Amino acid sequence: MQGEKIAVIGAGAAGMMAAYRAASLGGDVTVFEKNNMFGKKIRITGKGRCNITNACDNDEFIRNIPTNGRFMYSSLNGFTPWDTIDFFESHGLKTKIERGNRVFPVSDKAADVAVTLHKASAEAGAVFSGHKVADVLAENGEIKGLVLENGEKRSFQKVIIATGGKSYPLTGSTGDGYAFAQKLGHTIIPLKPSLVPIESPDKFCRDMQGLSLKNTGMTVVNADSGKEVYRDFGEMLFTHFGISGPMVLSAGANIKNPDKTKYVIYLDLKPALSEEKLDQRILRDFEKNINKAVSNSLGELLPRKMIPVVLNRWGISFDTKCNSVTREQRTLLVKLLKSFSINVKGFRPIEEAIVTSGGVCTKEINPSTMESRIVKGLYFAGEVIDVDGYTGGFNLQIAFSTGWAAGESCL
Ligand SMILES: Cc1cc2nc3c(=O)[nH]c(=O)nc-3n(C[C@H](O)[C@H](O)[C@H](O)COP(=O)(O)OP(=O)(O)OC[C@H]3O[C@@H](n4cnc5c(N)ncnc54)[C@H](O)[C@@H]3O)c2cc1C
Repeated sequence: MQGEKIAVIGAGAAGMMAAYRAASLGGDVTVFEKNNMFGKKIRITGKGRCNITNACDNDEFIRNIPTNGRFMYSSLNGFTPWDTIDFFESHGLKTKIERGNRVFPVSDKAADVAVTLHKASAEAGAVFSGHKVADVLAENGEIKGLVLENGEKRSFQKVIIATGGKSYPLTGSTGDGYAFAQKLGHTIIPLKPSLVPIESPDKFCRDMQGLSLKNTGMTVVNADSGKEVYRDFGEMLFTHFGISGPMVLSAGANIKNPDKTKYVIYLDLKPALSEEKLDQRILRDFEKNINKAVSNSLGELLPRKMIPVVLNRWGISFDTKCNSVTREQRTLLVKLLKSFSINVKGFRPIEEAIVTSGGVCTKEINPSTMESRIVKGLYFAGEVIDVDGYTGGFNLQIAFSTGWAAGESCL
């Protein structure tokens, strides 16, 4: 079949990196993007700052990919987080490494990342077309081309599906790639939200909405088996539906089937103090306020919004005087602060997830080339594949590494 050689569907992180690599190697590349803006999702990443990657070694990287991490070994070796940093630096975008090896542009502007990636791939020779792809065509197990939304058929020998997941659909990731892949014979592992806020039935979360906690310990326990499934330390936020924030998003990736299994999250509100030290600290605070009510004596220990919630859960009347609190009551308070339980109801919907878990089955994709094992000339890159990571720059690096591999091997 005559025609252009390589089509990339989606000008996101994965699609633009694939286009850059293929065009740099001399490929004839057309990128189809349905938005009138390229890299729309990149522009909202990292709270507008874009956490580009994580400056860690590959083993540490794989440990941060809870779903199908092993699938990433080969493409990650081919294009590491350090290659990502080099890529952006060599195209004029200065980067910096922050806490937890998180890499950001020095400008703190996510849009600069999208612009750099677009400029690099366009300069390498990739052509950008503002069309939505409606279908991918194959015959006898081989790619033939695309159908655009306006009905126009275009011939291609290679097609890279880089349409992203199904989260934040306003950015353009509406799950089109799953339908293309399924129609071409691929298995789609059921989609689930990942890195998504957690809903709780506990009303006290709503009472504390807007309160964010720093330096908090968190343990997630499968209450049916009694097993601890996740432990972390960091930041979180109470919301009108439950809890959110970086640590909560990562915890959620370890909570499986919350509709069938009961999970409880325990916060350690004073992780720097042992139970004994915390007890001494409370005793000192109560001695300072000996004739005051307990509700007026916890201000140095707890954020204001949390005090009524803690008093209610402690089961003590608000006007109890500090000098009448017994040792047993103090022990109960220490236990409450060291293991403040929150029941898990489930997750917020996929539309609110940072990433989509599930997608094109990794067993049907060659992990070195990203080529389909079912249709010749068909490739996948980025979130459309059933791989997802924790927060910290891992998901964009998955997009960059798989995009690089697909772009390199489709020639
Ligand atoms: C709020 C938020 C913050 C995030 N922050 C970070 C972060 O700081 N660091 C990090 O590593 N990850 C972060 N992520 C995750 C990360 O953004 C994604 O994992 C990554 O963008 C996936 O890249 P992708 O190229 O596979 O898909 P996308 O970036 O979603 O790109 C897919 C593109 O395909 C286009 N498309 C879809 N269907 C069609 C079609 N039929 N025809 C034409 N075009 C089509 C879409 O319009 C879109 O532009 C964040 C995600 C969100 C939602």
